[in-house]
Amino acid sequence: MAASSSKTDDTREERIPPKTPAFLSSHKCQETRSTKASKFVVESVGEHVQEVAVGDMVVPVFAAQCSECPDCLSDRSNLCSKLPNVAGLMPRDSTTRFSSASTGEPIRHFLSVSSFTEYTVVDITHVVKLDASFPLAMACLLSCGISTGVGAACKVAAVEPGSSVAVFGLGAVGLAVAQGARMRGAKRIIGVDVNPDKFDVGKRLGMTDFINPNDTGGKTVSEVIKEITGGGGADYCFECIGSTSVMAEAFQSTRMELELEEFITHEMGFKEINRAFELLTQGKSLRCIIWMDGAKEIENGV
Ligand SMILES: [Zn+2]
Repeated sequence: MAASSSKTDDTREERIPPKTPAFLSSHKCQETRSTKASKFVVESVGEHVQEVAVGDMVVPVFAAQCSECPDCLSDRSNLCSKLPNVAGLMPRDSTTRFSSASTGEPIRHFLSVSSFTEYTVVDITHVVKLDASFPLAMACLLSCGISTGVGAACKVAAVEPGSSVAVFGLGAVGLAVAQGARMRGAKRIIGVDVNPDKFDVGKRLGMTDFINPNDTGGKTVSEVIKEITGGGGADYCFECIGSTSVMAEAFQSTRMELELEEFITHEMGFKEINRAFELLTQGKSLRCIIWMDGAKEIENGV
């Protein structure tokens, strides 16, 4: 059942060119595994949909892939800018394909795929076709989590052979990062997790060293990572928890090649701020640090 166009939001209509083929792809897909995004069989398709056919095996994915916009065409991003996520609604016309059987009340979509249902309707940009021989039990792993971690290491960071990698958080995403780093030829892969039970599976997936933040003898994790890597820190750090404090620790654990001190040519008190601007406009300073209490005054020259 292909829905027709309805201009409910002029802004969205302007952002999504009307020439886009398959205005709406309508898939009624049968769920074959009850996980948050699993393997589906295409039961029907909307008008103009040529990418998949009835009977194809597909995996629904949360992030749209229009394959046309600069972000979809980039090797460094997969966040589609043409069809951004519309909370609970179909991406092209901001409507819903679900309603209550008893009351007719509209029901919103969930994460663009609504894969907790036995049947769902998704835009064509939210499915990936699978080879029919792909193992059923493994299919759901590809839609989220594993691909997130492997993609972060292989695509976004593009880990270089022989490099050192630290992974904070050894859940599915973190362990997938380790696999991706190993595939890219990383020499040292350090796993960080408060649960040492994760270390065995980490080792099987390519990790070489492990740190339990609760068992570092009083050192910070970044200090331990710098010791393991010979003093400089890891070439790449991946934070796979979603914690601001862990992100800061991961940043501290990364090998810094940026020389910031070279940019500071002057330091002076606030009362000298006009002189600081003069130096800037005259091209005589790179960066001048203004100390509000005037505690420090130096002039290095350029
Ligand atoms: Zn796109």
